[in-house]
Amino acid sequence: MKFAVKISNFGRSGCLTELSQPFNNLSFKTPTLMSYTRGGTIPHLTFNTIQRLEDQNMLLLQTLPTIIEFKEAIMEHGKGLNTFVGLPEYPFHLSVQDPGTLTPTGFNVNKGVSVWCEGGKKRLTVSDFMETIKAYRPVSYQALCDSDTPQGCSKKRLNKAVDNSLKFLDQCLEDHKNCNELDGVAVFGTIQGAYDPFLREKSAKTTALRDVDGFVIDGFHINGPDVENIDFPKMKEILQDIIPFLPEGKLRILHGAFEPEIMLEAIKCGVDIFDSSYAYKLSEEGEATVFPLNAIAEYFQEEIENNVPKRSKCSCTIPLKEDVYKDDFRPILDKCECYTCKHYTRAYINHLLVTSELLAPILLMIHNLHHLSNFFKTVRNALVDEVF
Ligand SMILES: [Zn+2]
Repeated sequence: MKFAVKISNFGRSGCLTELSQPFNNLSFKTPTLMSYTRGGTIPHLTFNTIQRLEDQNMLLLQTLPTIIEFKEAIMEHGKGLNTFVGLPEYPFHLSVQDPGTLTPTGFNVNKGVSVWCEGGKKRLTVSDFMETIKAYRPVSYQALCDSDTPQGCSKKRLNKAVDNSLKFLDQCLEDHKNCNELDGVAVFGTIQGAYDPFLREKSAKTTALRDVDGFVIDGFHINGPDVENIDFPKMKEILQDIIPFLPEGKLRILHGAFEPEIMLEAIKCGVDIFDSSYAYKLSEEGEATVFPLNAIAEYFQEEIENNVPKRSKCSCTIPLKEDVYKDDFRPILDKCECYTCKHYTRAYINHLLVTSELLAPILLMIHNLHHLSNFFKTVRNALVDEVF
């Protein structure tokens, strides 16, 4: 995997190329959004509806807890996860935990990490984990790591998370290096330490010494709704402190269902890749994103003029289940080019939500993914043109 990066006054933009076979002809511009999946596919969408999404140049995020139960079948099938789940044309990155679901805490040990799937807890050693990677065939993966650092956990736990993650990374790299099947597959090390500046620095410096292709900055939350409990000003300070320790030419990933404003702030700190679990969270809650995309440039402009960050401008959503939408015959968002907005009204989606029809989250996912994807496109263009 190759990553070329250009630094501007407001963040960095880059281009990801030379993915492992058979995706070596694809390229992805950053900052970008990986399409969040559950059980191998984008939640609520079938192959046909995925193909209706405007942006087909997608990097999927496969999350280990939602796919680990397929392991035996995938090993027997022998053609990798994306062929098994019927999405052979989309490359995927694999994460250890699921950013869309709260991770139960207190189950990691020195020899392995617990992931929670439908059938309950599965504890993975490095060797189980690497066996899974070889069978699933991602283009990149997060090395096994211990991100179990809920708010208020002890310093001892934070230390353990840092040490375990580095130890697991070294073991994964050793195994990776000796395996021909993993030629060209990218490995990401994970930086731990939650909100502790000293441990974050230690984790960033030691992980940066390893032969990795990029970094996942984890441990600010334990996924799912816990993302709402992040201490954002402190998180931003940590990002600003640790990113200078990371080599410029390597990718940085931040997982979680963050609101667009928080993603913008993280982009300004130098984060390159996020995931679309926010679109999933909103669609599950019957909400649609409607923030104006021109707010992005305004957001930066006002901050420069007043030197005061303006919150809540980019995080506008509408709760379509509410009565006020039952005779609102406009699309979710005027001029939105998505399939949902071209064909359906707020009133119809309100009816689908009230009667718990399965079509409601499908239509919401299509719109929310489309809008978030356009948000990233706008940010990329703005970074390249330096219109901020
Ligand atoms: Zn739309």
